[in-house]
Amino acid sequence: MKYSIKNVLSDATQRLSAQKIDTPRLDAEILLAHVLNCRRLTLYIDSEKILPLESVLRFNDLINRRLKKIPVAYLTGTKDFMGLTFAVNENVLVPRPDTEILTELVGEFLRERVGGGIFADLGTGSGAIAISILKFVKSARAMAVDISEAALSVAKFNAEKFHVADRIKFLCGDLFAPLEGKIFDAIVSNPPYIPTNELKTLQAEVQREPKLALDGGADGLNFYRRILCDAPRFLVDGGILAVEVGINQSSVVKNLFLATGFVDVEIIKDLSGLERVVAGKFS
Ligand code: GLN
Repeated sequence: MKYSIKNVLSDATQRLSAQKIDTPRLDAEILLAHVLNCRRLTLYIDSEKILPLESVLRFNDLINRRLKKIPVAYLTGTKDFMGLTFAVNENVLVPRPDTEILTELVGEFLRERVGGGIFADLGTGSGAIAISILKFVKSARAMAVDISEAALSVAKFNAEKFHVADRIKFLCGDLFAPLEGKIFDAIVSNPPYIPTNELKTLQAEVQREPKLALDGGADGLNFYRRILCDAPRFLVDGGILAVEVGINQSSVVKNLFLATGFVDVEIIKDLSGLERVVAGKFS
């Protein structure tokens, strides 16, 4: 077989598909574009081009690792979110398109704040939420917290990459612990929310992601309880709290907001129509 782009891609697609990988062709294209350091479109334009053996070997190595259910984002070391290409590794949750709605909501709120506005991001991981907000709201500033030092080094790298490092402080600790005494216009979080006994039922790829970023305790709601309990002390009057929630969690979490005295509490759907965000105002 000639190692043309077309042949190499179709062979890899078949191998991935035989192992029931969800999006075999797309994954093969992303990985080959990564090896060749080109855009996916180029793979079509140059589909007859013969590849050097070295590229074929590197690509095959990535496909073999993908067959072991390692997420594509960990193999390329990148994931696009809000139109920005973030660095990721196995110490952070891979940013999901579902989370863009939360990012937009908080960004739009801060855009309207006179003098910019300062927000906290609890469990920042790769920094995708906080850094995207800073990128789109030039006057905003952030404090981003994570309990994992390894995650924070990924987030710091991304803050440098997108030139927002001068507007964000990274703090290592458990939720609000490193923020004592600070007051924010907004608090945002995509906390771990999978019930512990569901972790082992997740897709093999998700099981490769940090448990620390997924495990929300027995009913998946531990972090919402803790965040709601402390949030009022850390918000200005009229400030907002916005969190991502998992399947079937929106109404329970909305009730937690109401019980804590939040007003204008809203449930917002993501692009697939799933109830994905709960947000409310503190007054
Ligand atoms: N959205 C992730 C998933 O469904 C979970 C992320 C989280 O727990 N915050 O796999």
